[in-house]
This record gives sequence, structure tokens and C-alpha cells, in this order.
Amino acid sequence: MYYINKNKKGAGSMIGEQYVQKVIDQVKQRNKGEKEFQDAVTEVLNSLAPVFDKHPEYVQEGILERLVEPERQILFRVPWVDDNGTVQVNRGFRIQFNSAIGPYKGGLRFHPSVNASIVKFLGFEQIFKNSLTGLPIGGGKGGADFNPKGKSDREIMRFCQSFMSELCKHIGPNLDVPAGDIGVGGREIGYMYGYYKKIRSTNDQGVLTGKGLTFGGSLARTEATGFGLVYFTEEMLKDNNLSFNRKTVVISGSGNVAIYATQKATELGAKVVALSDSNGYIYDENGINLDVVREIKEVKRGRIKEYLESVPSAKYVEGCTKIWEIKCDIALPCATQGEINEESAKILVGNGVKAISEGANMPSTLEAIEIIQNAGILFGPAKAANAGGVACSALEMSQNGMRLSWTFEEVDEKLQSIMKNIYKNASEAAKEYGEVGNILVGANIAGFMKVAEAMMSQGIV
Ligand code: GLU
Repeated sequence: MYYINKNKKGAGSMIGEQYVQKVIDQVKQRNKGEKEFQDAVTEVLNSLAPVFDKHPEYVQEGILERLVEPERQILFRVPWVDDNGTVQVNRGFRIQFNSAIGPYKGGLRFHPSVNASIVKFLGFEQIFKNSLTGLPIGGGKGGADFNPKGKSDREIMRFCQSFMSELCKHIGPNLDVPAGDIGVGGREIGYMYGYYKKIRSTNDQGVLTGKGLTFGGSLARTEATGFGLVYFTEEMLKDNNLSFNRKTVVISGSGNVAIYATQKATELGAKVVALSDSNGYIYDENGINLDVVREIKEVKRGRIKEYLESVPSAKYVEGCTKIWEIKCDIALPCATQGEINEESAKILVGNGVKAISEGANMPSTLEAIEIIQNAGILFGPAKAANAGGVACSALEMSQNGMRLSWTFEEVDEKLQSIMKNIYKNASEAAKEYGEVGNILVGANIAGFMKVAEAMMSQGIV
């Protein structure tokens, strides 16, 4: 499972392949049981083998051995008191993976599934994603195994404050800049920023991104991941004489990424017929009414099946992975990791899907990617396709540094040009290594090269 055409490679390719395999084996040995992290490393490293044939100096300098080991991992207790007065204890994480090209940058995830493997896989992916944006940001990620579902506002606030009381010791505008991810949105960032400011006695706005617009947040940051996903995908479609116009689109999830991907895809003439949450999916053959979804998700913080109360003609199906059984032209998985497995990939391919582009982080399993690529379906890998969010976070950092606020149009224009460049760089890297059209391999190589060059210049650190 190498995602690269082995027949095209010459005899020299053995160096790269052996090196990559050695490091993958070491990662599996050292990170036992951490499946998500092992899979993320395997996916990236298997694309990189040909790079080491061209650059044996990277092997000598142990670039990969250093790259797969986080620079720092922070694990901490998060005690808080719930509304009943009961003491609760969660586990907090921050992985500072790689700072070769800039301060650590990446979101915080609050979800019961969060553990060392998940945070490490996300942090590892973030290194290459952030590099692809062309902006000076290193890779990091964090979070807690806290379940925000059903918690009161006050409970969320107390949790965020307790979490920040430890995290604040390890972050800073030039050191590590967290943001949101699953379970962490504007509300949580607001509570964390307020507490950071209080206990550090400083107004360093650049310490967190995704802030509210009244205290240093950037216009278009909320929309950026979803809009960016569609900009990137449109570019990939255009390169293959296709477009969103008149296409049927299935989008999983109903959070921030899914909502703004739906908006932009619809603006480009597509019909988005389905959205989901962790309980099930809604199907609306007339096209999803986004106002209804936003009211449910952003205002009421409810479940997606409530859509039927406003649109009774829509269907609700229990079980979220079944969403991939809907026939569509374009699939945008925007829910979570591993949501498209081998079986779902086969169904999508069988139903004639033309493109799959990832809004979530690692939503397709390694087995699913192999099926999608072997079938010749256009594939936009997460680290390229969903990089718009973190790119806009870096634009927020710039605005904070300059004490300026750009207009929505200015930020959106920059976002569009970043997403176009990511596609261009990934597709050119794929071409350079004899893998025309393989955006997965191209994104991994393009993202890796900048980090590797920076690491080479900075010595063994
Ligand atoms: N959590 C988002 C991601 O996966 C955004 C991170 C950020 O803005 O720092 O890229």
C-alpha cells in the first residue's frame, strides 16, 4: 500500500524504500497500540520514499527519525467541578511536534475519544498541512478527553479555565498557538483566552486563534476551513475539466467545516443533499436548507434529526456511516477520522463518485484511500484540502501582530490564493516525482520538503 506507482521507479529507489520502512517499523515498535498515529506516519512516509533517492543527505541527517518524534509532549490533569458539585477529572494534552518553520500551531480537540495516539496523529498531520499553507507555522495539537455534549455553559467555562490554568505555562504567541478543533469553537476559545489574559496578566492576542471579532479574531476564520475545502476541491475539479456546478454533493458532519462547505458548494451551483452528526444523517433531495441547520447546530446546539421538524419532506437515517450509501458526484467527509472505511469507499466508487475531498482530518482509512486511488477517483487529502482553517489562523496571527483587522474580502481573497497555491504545489510535486494527478503523494512531498530543508539548515536539534 504505497500510493505510488512502483513500476516507474528505478533501481535507486531501494534506498528510500528501505529507509522509510525502517522508520515505520521503529514508530510501530515505539508507539505500540497507537493505531491512528501509526497510520498517519505510514501514509506520509510511504509517499516520501522517492524523495530520499534524490536526497540521500536527508537520510544521513536522520530527518525522518527526528520528524516522527514530537519535540515535546505535555500531559496534564484537568480537575473541575460540575453543576452538582461533583469533582470531575479529565486528561489534557498538548503535543508540540515540530517547530522547524515556525511556532507550533494547531487546534485543541475536546472529545471523549481524545488520547495520546489521536493527538499525535493530528499533530503529525499538522506539520505538513501547516507547511503547505506557505506560512511560517510549525505543527502542534492538543485537547482533552472531555465530552462537551450536554454540559452547561458554566461547566464548559470551568473546564476551559482549569484546562488553561496548566496549558498557559506552555504556550505563547511566538511559542505555541492553539485554536479550535472538534468540540472547541468560539465559546471555548473565548473562555480560554479570558483566563489566559487574567492569569498571565498580558494581552497577547496572538496566543490563541479563532477568537471573537471584538478581541482580535479574524473575519472569515469561522468560514475558512469549509470555504477553503471547496476552493481547493474546485481547483482539483477544474484541472480535470469538472466543477461543482450542477453536481450532487454529500457532506458528512454538521459542524463548522460541514456548514461552510455546504454554503460555498451551494454558491458554486452544487446541490448538497445530506449532512450528518454522530447519531445519523439527514437526506434532503431538494438541497439542504442551511438556515435550518445553523439554527439547530449553532444556536440550539441540537441534533441533526431536528431538521425534520422544519423540513418534514426530508429523511433521517440512524447511523452516520450509512451516509456514504447516497449516490453522489462529490463526497466531502467533514466529520471525523476513519469515517470512510473500505466498505464505504467501495460503495462510493460503485455509485460513480467523481471526487472525494477531505474536510475532516484523516477521514479515510488507509484501505479506503487505496480503493479510491485504484479506481482513479480524484482525491483531495485532508492536509491539503482542509488547510484553509489553519491558514486563516496564521492570517489572524499576522493581524494580531500588526494590531490591524483586515476586511472579510481581504481575508477571503488571501484564503483563495493560498488554497490555489496548495493545489498547484501538490500537483507539481506529484508531477516531479512521476505521479501525475496523485495529490496525496504530491501534498506529502511538498509539505515535507520545506520542513526538511529547514531542519537541514538548523542542525541536529
Ligand atoms: N483544527 C484545525 C485544523 O485541523 C485548525 C487549527 C488551527 O487553526 O490552528 O487544522
